Amino acid sequence: MLNFSVLKSFFDCSYRFKLISLYGFTQPISTPMGYGRSIHNLLMEIHRKSLEGIDTEDKDLPDLLNKHVHLPYETEKKKIASKDKINTLTKKYLELNKDSFKDIVFAEKDIQLDLGDGIMVNGRMDLIKKKNLDGTFTTTIVDFKSREDVQIREVSMEQLSLYALGYQELSGEKADFLQIYNLDEELPHPDTKELFNEDLNSTKQLIITSANQIMSNILNKTCNKKMCDTCYQVKLCSGVQ
Ligand code: SF4
Repeated sequence: MLNFSVLKSFFDCSYRFKLISLYGFTQPISTPMGYGRSIHNLLMEIHRKSLEGIDTEDKDLPDLLNKHVHLPYETEKKKIASKDKINTLTKKYLELNKDSFKDIVFAEKDIQLDLGDGIMVNGRMDLIKKKNLDGTFTTTIVDFKSREDVQIREVSMEQLSLYALGYQELSGEKADFLQIYNLDEELPHPDTKELFNEDLNSTKQLIITSANQIMSNILNKTCNKKMCDTCYQVKLCSGVQ
């Protein structure tokens, strides 16, 4: 059973994946832990309410923030600052996007993929929008990012492509676009990419190859010095030789 976090750790460095996922050498908790999850949970409630026909107004935000913002390892001062920041970006998000809420078909939807040979992948898509353009529907899978999500664009698009495979399994339909929405940008510029069948096939093949490598215990050190220089596990593994 794989998920995107496991796969990402494997793509970064398969030896690090072995140290963390198989041997249990986890990294220390970072103090902003919970920031990204708090935003995701808050937006999930807004989107799901919209699916039920209930609009969220600015006046509803204090209650939503109290309910969803959970930063257990931050100092009180930083918790207040983060709450203010989430309040601002949620207001901005509502202002810019509420008119397109009518296009939402799923919010935080679980997916499960069976790729055969005992390989299963699960995950959760943030948002799926389906827009009717003169009788033609286009489907976009959206992933929200915040300042705590430091992964590079290509990795995020790979993640979305995996979700698109899950969406296809769930609905029998191919999504048309993948979109990364960075909430922490002053004025968000959603990064949208058209999705082709070749992208889905190569993602599927990548997952199958990765799963086979994991099952065969082919978990070598990365040859990327830049990765080693910022790797917490370098104390155990000494890095690329
Ligand atoms: S130090 Fe380098 S080789 Fe070792 S686990 Fe980290 S990234 Fe991999």
